[in-house]
Amino acid sequence: MHIEKSKTITERATRVIPGGVNSATRRLSQPYAWEWAEGAQIRDVDGNTYLDYHAAFGPIVLGHNDPTVNAAVAKALTGPDMVGVGITEQEIMLAEKVVQHVPSAEMALAFSSGSEATYMAVRLARGVTGREKLIKFQGTFHGWHDYLLMNIASPADKIGKKDPGSAGQLADAIDNTIIVPFNDLAATEQAILDHPGQIAAIFMEAIPHNIGCVLPRQDFVEGLRRLCDTHGIVLVFDEVITGFRHGLGGYQSVLGVKPDISTFAKAIANGYPCAIIAGKRELMLQFSTAPGGKVFVGGTYNGHPVGSAAALATIAALEDGTIYERTFRLGDRMRAGLAEIAGRLGIEMVSAGFGSVFTPYFMSGKVERYEDLLANDTARDVGFRQGMCERGIFMLPMPIKRNHISAAHTDADIDRTLETAEIVMKTLR
Ligand code: PMP
Repeated sequence: MHIEKSKTITERATRVIPGGVNSATRRLSQPYAWEWAEGAQIRDVDGNTYLDYHAAFGPIVLGHNDPTVNAAVAKALTGPDMVGVGITEQEIMLAEKVVQHVPSAEMALAFSSGSEATYMAVRLARGVTGREKLIKFQGTFHGWHDYLLMNIASPADKIGKKDPGSAGQLADAIDNTIIVPFNDLAATEQAILDHPGQIAAIFMEAIPHNIGCVLPRQDFVEGLRRLCDTHGIVLVFDEVITGFRHGLGGYQSVLGVKPDISTFAKAIANGYPCAIIAGKRELMLQFSTAPGGKVFVGGTYNGHPVGSAAALATIAALEDGTIYERTFRLGDRMRAGLAEIAGRLGIEMVSAGFGSVFTPYFMSGKVERYEDLLANDTARDVGFRQGMCERGIFMLPMPIKRNHISAAHTDADIDRTLETAEIVMKTLR
């Protein structure tokens, strides 16, 4: 595969952009520079076209450059751009849609990115409870801010210890966040009992998708709900990835458990910047957008017309359910197909996923928490992904990452992916 132009452009980028990319996770060992994306395809500046399962880390749920979303955005450009005070009908419609579809959402506020939404959930939980500590689970990611950026894909020697994600994080922020193994209700309860009256919120990714796909056990989630009710803790479901991808009501509608607060971004707007924090009326009214609300919330771009228009068009496209039906069916085909090939070739694999998301782990055994994934064969995992990329099928070449199917993928795409996967897996034996 020729990547000369990608190399040249990336070199140019590194002269003015640190590392040549605008987000740390975008820098890969091979430089990629893009010039075109449509449907399920993306093309780099050297003319290499890929079938895309990365989906920009998940927002692309309808397909790249979806014409209805683009048309809605173009129409929004003919209305008010930004006025900075008051409200527009479009912002109301977006909140109404979230309230209509998300079981726990009684009110909603819009932001531009997931990190802003999870940050506001932290502040809200602390503001309403008067407590400082948070609980998060080993292996989850909730954005780039100080309070939750820790213990994501930790190396084995950092398990059970604090593993901050960045230099410059406040020591207080790190100290005040308690890390617990996922799906471990007893450990969660113990953490609460060890800090009586001090836990403001429990944060969980509705499905920890930042480590592929580790499904929450039903009794664990129901137990969290009970613990939060008993101890006056705010239960936050971070549905930044799961929201609108796994259903209009998010993964909470699959679980049938209502958090107090939820956060959404990514798939809600098919690639345009839009994020939401939503939840119980009595909590949401504590935001300072409401009279008397003491939890300050601001943001020049909140409810931006472009993101709001994209979100409304994306939700409208998802509303009749046919896209979920189709992409979930394709997801089932992909997971079963990968497992079948691996089984036939004698390669250990847990073909994980849910709905339109799939993650082949190169290991055997159970996958209930991040710690289980230390058994994943990283070299094989990355080797598989690189082999797929070299053959024109883009799966993020990093270990334990999720892949996404969009409405633009077809059965023929799945056939081709599985045929290619077999060729690549044969090279890994
Ligand atoms: N929460 C989760 C579960 C995420 O996966 C992400 C981003 N990967 C975020 C929050 C942060 O969202 P953003 O990158 O839009 O700030």
